[in-house]
Amino acid sequence: MSGLLIIGSSQAGVQLAVSLRALGYEPPITLLGDEDHRPYQRPALSKEFLQDKISKESLIFRTAEYWDEHRIHVVKGEWIVRLERGPGGSGVAHSETGASFPYDRLALTVGARARRLEAPGSTLDGVLYLRNADDALDLKARAASADRVVVVGGGFIGIEAAASLRAMGKTVTLLERGGRLVRRAVGPETADFILRHHREQGIDIRLGAVVDEIVGEEGRVRAVRVGGEEIPADIVLVGIGVIPNTALAEQLGLEVSNGIVVDRYATASDGVTLAVGDCSNLPNPIAGSPAGERVRFESVNHAIEQAKVAAYALAGRQEEYENIPWFWSNQGALKLQIAGLSTGYDRVVDRSPADPAKLSLLYYRGERLIAADCINAPLDFMSVRQALTKGIDLPAEAVADPSVPLKQLLVSLERAAESASEPPAENPGK
Ligand code: NDP
Repeated sequence: MSGLLIIGSSQAGVQLAVSLRALGYEPPITLLGDEDHRPYQRPALSKEFLQDKISKESLIFRTAEYWDEHRIHVVKGEWIVRLERGPGGSGVAHSETGASFPYDRLALTVGARARRLEAPGSTLDGVLYLRNADDALDLKARAASADRVVVVGGGFIGIEAAASLRAMGKTVTLLERGGRLVRRAVGPETADFILRHHREQGIDIRLGAVVDEIVGEEGRVRAVRVGGEEIPADIVLVGIGVIPNTALAEQLGLEVSNGIVVDRYATASDGVTLAVGDCSNLPNPIAGSPAGERVRFESVNHAIEQAKVAAYALAGRQEEYENIPWFWSNQGALKLQIAGLSTGYDRVVDRSPADPAKLSLLYYRGERLIAADCINAPLDFMSVRQALTKGIDLPAEAVADPSVPLKQLLVSLERAAESASEPPAENPGK
């Protein structure tokens, strides 16, 4: 069966297939993944699933009937190792098991893989990662009999998993080599807030902590050595970032630079192959960002929105990617929501309410509002997201007072902009 081959059946691949059928795309679609599970959602793996609050079944994206009814052929357990290019955008994908999948068009939704820790002892039994469902099942099973967990990496995975494991009663130490947590995603004040919160919950968080060695006994993890100290560990969970999967794109001769380089239509450098999600590197969609600046997003929201753009491209309709990025991270009682990208800000306005459990920071570059970090402040997050989407600047002076709802400010600015753009009323005297 030819038609469209989507390699990678996680969030981006699933959304692409679903959007295509919603658009009335007729050719056959094969949605191929290397895991032995039906396509499933990942966000809960480090949270509710790890804590046994939800079942495996609830992670599944769509029913088998849905795929059948929509003529989407779901293939599990096939790892594509070689692509053979044919005329136009066509070709044949060959898997490790020897199966081949001919296609007329190809979409790479191949994601990213966990970066491996390189310290001595990193291959000992009990050194774990958390990227997919099998990783989560393994972590969950081992956590059941573990008391002491050392988490390496203070990004989203490390912190979310540490919060879950702490809530499960484990003794948790988190080692971050940098000077603050979640450095890539939030500003220093937000990082401090997150640090304080998790320390209060009893997680021993060490900053500037570089792992010297994972110490083992009879092939199993026993401790982690950091700066001369040995921290006892029954298991070690590593979350030190991801590396985009670009090997297949490289085989096709596509341009690759921190991911598969795509344009605003999710189309790669050959003009026919699509690349969507964590694996793709796209022009920065934020208005006013420096010309030629590129970004690679690692978020569910991005995978969904870029997949929709790719679906339009395949269906013959050009729709530019204009999504304003946003992220969320649930860490126990702390609900972090980020709108926009704060990179390059020169001013931050703190409009946090008196409630110490809440934080609301708005970031500006010059007069321009570019992002917000909100903790347990969903209304502010939603208003900033809307303002960024509509291209309305919430003036820094006006937002500083936390008693003024941002929604109200946004509505009044929208009204003012509308009346300014209306033609002047006719003068009845003339
Ligand atoms: P991140 O890149 O977010 O964070 C990795 C962290 O590990 C960084 O703080 C990094 O520090 C640190 N680090 C790197 N190397 C070492 C080391 N040798 N020792 C100690 N610390 C180190 O990646 P994650 O692994 O946390 O997450 C993986 C992916 O999953 C990301 O794409 C993430 O966005 C996604 N994810 C998203 C979630 C969400 O949106 N809620 C939840 C869970 C995962 P430095 O900056 O100094 O390199």
